[in-house]
Amino acid sequence: MEQKKKISNGVKTDILIIGGGPAGVVAGITAKKHYPSKQVTLIRKEGKSVIPCGIPYIFKRLDSAAQNIMSDQPLLDSKIDLIIGEVTEIKPKEKQIILKNGDIYSYDKLILALGSVPQLIPIPGIEKEGVWLVKKDYEYLGKFREAVLKSKNVVIIGGGFIGVEFAEELSGIKNLKISIIEKLDHCLITNFDEEFALATEEKIKNRGIKIFAGKTIKEIGGKKKAEYVKLNSGEKLAVDLVILSIGSRPNIELAQKSGIKTEEKSGIMVDEYMRTNIPDIFAIGDCAQTRDFITNKNIPIMLASVAATEARIAANNLYQIELIRENKGTIGVFSTFVDGLALGAVGLTEKRAKEEKIDYLVGEAEAFNRHPASLPRTEKIKVKLIFTKSSEGLLLGGEIMGPESVGEMLNILSMAIQQKTSLFDFNTWQIATHPLLTSAPTVYPLITAAQSAMLKLIKRS
Ligand SMILES: Cc1cc2nc3c(=O)[nH]c(=O)nc-3n(C[C@H](O)[C@H](O)[C@H](O)COP(=O)(O)OP(=O)(O)OC[C@H]3O[C@@H](n4cnc5c(N)ncnc54)[C@H](O)[C@@H]3O)c2cc1C
Repeated sequence: MEQKKKISNGVKTDILIIGGGPAGVVAGITAKKHYPSKQVTLIRKEGKSVIPCGIPYIFKRLDSAAQNIMSDQPLLDSKIDLIIGEVTEIKPKEKQIILKNGDIYSYDKLILALGSVPQLIPIPGIEKEGVWLVKKDYEYLGKFREAVLKSKNVVIIGGGFIGVEFAEELSGIKNLKISIIEKLDHCLITNFDEEFALATEEKIKNRGIKIFAGKTIKEIGGKKKAEYVKLNSGEKLAVDLVILSIGSRPNIELAQKSGIKTEEKSGIMVDEYMRTNIPDIFAIGDCAQTRDFITNKNIPIMLASVAATEARIAANNLYQIELIRENKGTIGVFSTFVDGLALGAVGLTEKRAKEEKIDYLVGEAEAFNRHPASLPRTEKIKVKLIFTKSSEGLLLGGEIMGPESVGEMLNILSMAIQQKTSLFDFNTWQIATHPLLTSAPTVYPLITAAQSAMLKLIKRS
């Protein structure tokens, strides 16, 4: 660790980052790469950081919460000063922050990477023993794992991607009965169009998980401990453990009380360089507002991948604005894996295009991931693409499901949206194919889906 300069008004550092999640870590490493002579200090609350995206997998696929720790080695290798402590105050005028233990740090540039915390809802009985939240907290997760392994009946409140990933993982534990309560009509329906949500629900049900969709929890009952949940539809389910996974809210209290502009639901307000309203203070990751690449509206997307992008943008623009390195808006690429089915979405779904009143075209295709299809481990890939129904035919979004290669196909689509790719570009797209690695060149599904949209645009006799 680097030597710190102790001065009368605290420890002086050049770049100070509050937060040790994906946003803070990537910001620190990127800042050090761009400005090797600057002293970078990262302060985080927790002694051990967990890998947030790995949390659902600590129950079965991993043997313990300890196997899901984010190593500090990249920070130490980059000669970043790591401080464990809670920041209780930011003094923007003095360019100082104060820790709970009274320590003071002065900075040139401050990056807030404060993250998010689990959303709560006022259900009667929510405070009972046996109700667990999805916290990014190592000690808590260790106890959570033990409690799950002792349980017989688990109810998961919320059928978004975290609830579904928990359910799928827990269904691998012997003799554990799992139910998901989702207030919307289907699990994952905020992320996907119905056909993709339905295919996922099939997979969930195949694993013996019960889905109560279109229903809400009226009460979590029991003496001291959760013993049952009552649904608004009248059903009563026996439980010994309830998992509340209805989303997260940005952690903005520290910023709010320091005069940094925030919006309650969307987070700390930032410009395209991730700057807040206060000079030399930046905000990134889950605590910062996210603006949609296509609609330019604030959107409630909280992803580690988005946090990392925002971190790189902030670190690039700390000392001077780099005009080509601004945040052009968040595309929102998301993928998940349920019982062998990989699926994901990028940009706008058809449902969202309708809600936004965008004139759109749909292109669809199905193909096998290997050729010939008689090869072992051949699986079907389903693609749905959304384009503008204009002469430009720009890609606005896509959904894909199939084998694991789907994850990287979505990332290709994200780049295509970012580069304003049209369906005509897909038509002339040059690709590599191989029998064991990809679909056949004759039916490559991203191209044939775009072609099917193109034929709707240019009808020939
Ligand atoms: C179960 C689960 C699964 C997920 N799966 C995926 C996935 O597959 N893909 C994906 O892209 N995203 C996924 N996400 C979302 C992803 O985890 C978040 O978007 C990501 O953690 C955001 O990173 P962050 O650094 O902004 O915030 P966080 O990870 O929340 O980190 C915030 C940091 O700030 C620190 N902090 C806060 N206040 C203070 C303070 N006052 N003083 C000092 N330190 C402070 C905290 O201690 C923490 O270190 C998942 C999330 C969960 C919960």
